[in-house]
Amino acid sequence: MSSVAIDYATEAPSGPELTGGNRKKVILLKPRGFCAGVVRAIDVVKIALELYGAPIYVRKEIVHNRHVVDELRSAGAIFVDELGEVPGGARVIFSAHGVSPAVRQEAKDRKLQVIDATCPLVTKVHVEAVKYAKQGYTIILIGHRDHDEVIGTLGEAPKNTILVSDVADVDRLDIPNPERIAYLTQTTLSLDETQDIVRRLMERYPKIIGPKTQDICYATENRQLAVKAVAPLCQALLVVGSQNSSNSRRLVEVCQKAGVPAYLLDDFGEIQESMLVGVDTVAVTAGASAPEHLVEELIAHLQANGYSEVEEAEIKEEDVRFTLPSDLENFTPRLYTVRT
Ligand code: SF4
Repeated sequence: MSSVAIDYATEAPSGPELTGGNRKKVILLKPRGFCAGVVRAIDVVKIALELYGAPIYVRKEIVHNRHVVDELRSAGAIFVDELGEVPGGARVIFSAHGVSPAVRQEAKDRKLQVIDATCPLVTKVHVEAVKYAKQGYTIILIGHRDHDEVIGTLGEAPKNTILVSDVADVDRLDIPNPERIAYLTQTTLSLDETQDIVRRLMERYPKIIGPKTQDICYATENRQLAVKAVAPLCQALLVVGSQNSSNSRRLVEVCQKAGVPAYLLDDFGEIQESMLVGVDTVAVTAGASAPEHLVEELIAHLQANGYSEVEEAEIKEEDVRFTLPSDLENFTPRLYTVRT
């Protein structure tokens, strides 16, 4: 991993003067980074490695972050795309994004020893899908087609569920019994876009019902609200996260929608000089699966390149924790060093 040097001396700042003089500033958003579901999922892999020893199989990326996956791989985890790659009878962990009942059945048939790291907030959506399907509702699932979470949720009631990703999809719907429709959402969507889609669903299907509280999770919501609050105060936003992280991508979009350029970076080595041309105040945040040490490295890099002032902006206090799966909760491990 190499750092890209930024030669600010040659750039004439052209954006609005926000910090006074030539001092450049970083606004570090809070909450940022790991959510409770990600902490739990990573702990599950670390504890399983400690308790049972390597190799431990993990179906799909445990969370969508390249650094986390690489570090767990080095500690002995073997990441596979499908259960067919796991030897019969071996131990396998399901990722934070959840799996469909068909995957659970396959694991059972192959006598795999399953440890389930599905985030409880994803499980909640699965339970809602099963409930609505049993009651005879057509379920409109708002989400992104190829995301692991959506594939898992769709699998709960495939015959009763229709996926929509935007308002245009809603306009194309043709549902035989509009009296009995329910909607659910992926947990990591844009708050604003989801609101637009739900509004259109309600216009078309006034009797539609949905979850009591929205399915977009607290971590996704809080990180988006922090970006919205800070966007007017900065000239660029750097989001630490991987390209396949849905909630990280939404942070970039939320900022861009507010008219401020935003970039998604796996780590500070991906900063390009063009991202900070004329930027006196840069905001920094991290998606829910991005470790804090990557944020610290990014901040150190910015400080070394002229952003000497760092100010933390806490938009909302966050204190959520999930208990471990029951088969692991009594274990007090000597945890592997996977930096958080
Ligand atoms: S982003 Fe939300 S739904 Fe996903 S793991 Fe974190 S808390 Fe759970």
